[in-house]
Amino acid sequence: MERVLVFDTTLRDGEQAPGCSMTPVEKMRMAKQLDTLGVDIIEAGFAASSPADFESVREIAREVRRPVIATLARATSGDIEKAAAALEPARQGRVHVFLATSEIHLQHKLRISQEECLERAGAAVEQAVRLVGEVEFSCEDATRTDLDFICQVVEVAVKAGARIINLPDTVGYAHPDEIRTMLATVRQRVPGIEDVVLSVHCHNDLGLAVANSLAGIAAGARQVEGTINGIGERAGNAALEEIVMAMRTRRDHFPYDTGIDTTEIYRTSRLLTVVTGIHPQPNKAIVGKNAFAHEAGIHQDGVLKHRMTYEIMTPESVGLQMSNLVLGKHSGRHALSQRYRALGYELTDEDLKRAYELFKRLADEKKDVLDEDLLAILHHGCMEDFPRRYKLRHLQVSCGSAAAVADVGMEVDGVMQEAMAEGDGPLAAAFAAVNRIASDHVIELHELTIQAISPGGDAVGEASLQATIDGKTFTGTAAAPDIVNAAVRAYLNALNKAAHARTLEAAALEQASYVWGV
Ligand SMILES: [Zn+2]
Repeated sequence: MERVLVFDTTLRDGEQAPGCSMTPVEKMRMAKQLDTLGVDIIEAGFAASSPADFESVREIAREVRRPVIATLARATSGDIEKAAAALEPARQGRVHVFLATSEIHLQHKLRISQEECLERAGAAVEQAVRLVGEVEFSCEDATRTDLDFICQVVEVAVKAGARIINLPDTVGYAHPDEIRTMLATVRQRVPGIEDVVLSVHCHNDLGLAVANSLAGIAAGARQVEGTINGIGERAGNAALEEIVMAMRTRRDHFPYDTGIDTTEIYRTSRLLTVVTGIHPQPNKAIVGKNAFAHEAGIHQDGVLKHRMTYEIMTPESVGLQMSNLVLGKHSGRHALSQRYRALGYELTDEDLKRAYELFKRLADEKKDVLDEDLLAILHHGCMEDFPRRYKLRHLQVSCGSAAAVADVGMEVDGVMQEAMAEGDGPLAAAFAAVNRIASDHVIELHELTIQAISPGGDAVGEASLQATIDGKTFTGTAAAPDIVNAAVRAYLNALNKAAHARTLEAAALEQASYVWGV
């Protein structure tokens, strides 16, 4: 079967979305999971955009060895040099050069003529080929570009040595028919195009990103770009899990293979949710909370009699294997490790030890510990793999008819500090007390959601929040049976990221001056 290459840009295009920015540690964790998922190419960042992004691309190139590691670059020699430097440790690197080609972008954004655009494209691809070898060229805003001109630009890029040509629907404007015509025309007219991999990259402004991507594949694209959960600028990018499952479920229409292990889809989606704090909507295809839930009696009845009556794919095929098996107070470490293995996680001894401690604590408060709880323990308890400047030691809040009062004790760089504060409610009071202790940060909280992650009155609450800390947006997540405790831990999670980012930035700046001689 012919192969369609899967190009994941969660860490670049996805990360650009509001509230989706990730720390380097989080990007690395995602990159490793994307590797397990089986994507062919990981776009790890935009190396020239900041020293932190540069370092992050470099680290992923060094550690994640199977997939091709790509980085975005504008068609300028400075960007391409930085891209090449960031990719230097990669087993196989790829520079993804982009240049706008539509009249509206040329006139109003770049202020260059079509001739200059052609020249720039050729020169940039040549330089990138010289420095890295594998080059992908994107005509930014291709779907609003005159077709004759697209053919000219693509011809120049192919002659200069680009091996992958991407025709993105940057603004989410195209219709599937137009994507088909665009690809067919390029394939027909551009000399040498048969030796090149054609790619599509669609945005979801009109809700057509996945349909357009599939139209592109039907018209000959053998690479498809997108993000997990469809995160991305504005209405987002094409959701990779939807494209992959659409191809798999409708093999009669799409007789192509991908390298994706679909049973890793749910785990990947869940990890991204924990990292960004942004949950897919409940009815989101493939990974939404209700994607496989049957509520109507007549549907339930049908599914019980024969699953295929209302199920076109199984939850197991995307790695959703929640069972009704419960663990409790008396379950041992071995049972816990077995259960994690069944859920697809091979824990190191150290992680298992930590998970077991947290499990025991939870089992004291909650009779039945469900799979969802075990995932929360794993994501929130074991994976905070960066140094934590702030640690919660005690939290006491009283609230009711009078103003709420919180008493918070925190370790800051190993030194115990305490503060009390009042607020309109228990959370406001607790956050105010934390702010008194972490007074060297300027914190503005934007969003806070608390969701029960398992059924029942004794459910564990998962808190996700977004805050601007010292001028940058950070997300924080945490889970606990007590929601005030979960929210305060999520707050500290964001604060710890901000504190860690400060240290990293200082280190990255030092590195940057070394690499670029600035
Ligand atoms: Zn994009």
